[in-house]
Amino acid sequence: MRFILYIQCLVYLIGFNVTSFYAHASETETEKDTRKPVKKAVVLYGEETLFNTIENLTDESIQLHYDSLKGLENPPVKVMSQIELFLRIKTFSKMEAAMLLDSLFESGNENYALINQINLFLIDHDFSNVDNESFDYLKHKSDYPAHLLYGSWNTTKPHPYNQELYKQDSTQRLKLSSKKFGTYASPVDKIVVTSRFGYRWGKSHRGIDLDLQVWDEVKSAFSGKVRFAGYFGGYGRVVVVRHTNGLETLYAHLHRFKVEAGDNVNAGDVIALGGSSGNSSGSHLHFEVRYKGVALNPDQLIDFKAKELVADKITLVKNSWGFTAIPDGVEYYTVQKGDYLFKIAEEYGTTCNELCKKNGISRNSTLRVGQKIRVI
Ligand SMILES: [Zn+2]
Repeated sequence: MRFILYIQCLVYLIGFNVTSFYAHASETETEKDTRKPVKKAVVLYGEETLFNTIENLTDESIQLHYDSLKGLENPPVKVMSQIELFLRIKTFSKMEAAMLLDSLFESGNENYALINQINLFLIDHDFSNVDNESFDYLKHKSDYPAHLLYGSWNTTKPHPYNQELYKQDSTQRLKLSSKKFGTYASPVDKIVVTSRFGYRWGKSHRGIDLDLQVWDEVKSAFSGKVRFAGYFGGYGRVVVVRHTNGLETLYAHLHRFKVEAGDNVNAGDVIALGGSSGNSSGSHLHFEVRYKGVALNPDQLIDFKAKELVADKITLVKNSWGFTAIPDGVEYYTVQKGDYLFKIAEEYGTTCNELCKKNGISRNSTLRVGQKIRVI
């Protein structure tokens, strides 16, 4: 018999003290199971929870606890209203629960017990058979892709957005590919990654560099509409495409444009010819993936070598600088006190290089307790 532990982290926000950590193990059949043991964990904010136990927490036991509080001489009204709310969450969809978490964070700093309890509940709650994910932004009809998420269309600047656009967000589910709007296509034919996302030589590199020869074709990674095509500072000739799936991709140091703002493109359509315009040493494609203007680590979404997506659906979780992209079905490890990269790599049968690549970090990055590391 062996224990399989799963890591999963639903809500992660830097800026809150992650002082408590919950992990549990469950027995499972092992015969053909060759997966690495991973831990199931959820990040908590402080140590408070609504109930002092998380084991065997049934509606009845909660109700019993509630009734006992009610019978007290001075009933703790606030706690009781939180328990009422918690009982209702079980009827919520995952999206509704996430929205509730949003509003709790907005309402101030006093709801951590409830927030923690919701997190604990979500980690154990199986949403997999609840197919009520609406991806509402996809249903919205507009001339501009994903207009419900952005609300504006700017053809004069590559980066017209500011924090106002995502200030209210906490999590957003995106469907990256579908029968209707297609899937991912590699921006260049031959994949040689020359620089990855993250901090390089003390500067932050907001994209990934793919080697190419001048005049090589550059293709749109997803379907959508060209939002910007022009010369812009260090980017040189640059194309930005807003995609139906909600992302924007940026292609820089181009030699020739093959599209202009307003053109509709499919994944794989040639949008430009590569080059080394702008601030570029040697010809290459600087490729960025952004959501509401926030640069995501492309390696978290795209397997460049395999020319495919890491997952068809992703969850974008708000953090203090923007968003972390969490592809469905990918396992994460939450950094604990005393962890270091090599130790985590060894535990998951991977290498430090692989972890660095997947997480956009360098080998000597400092790991913070509570930081989420993509391990598989
Ligand atoms: Zn670059």
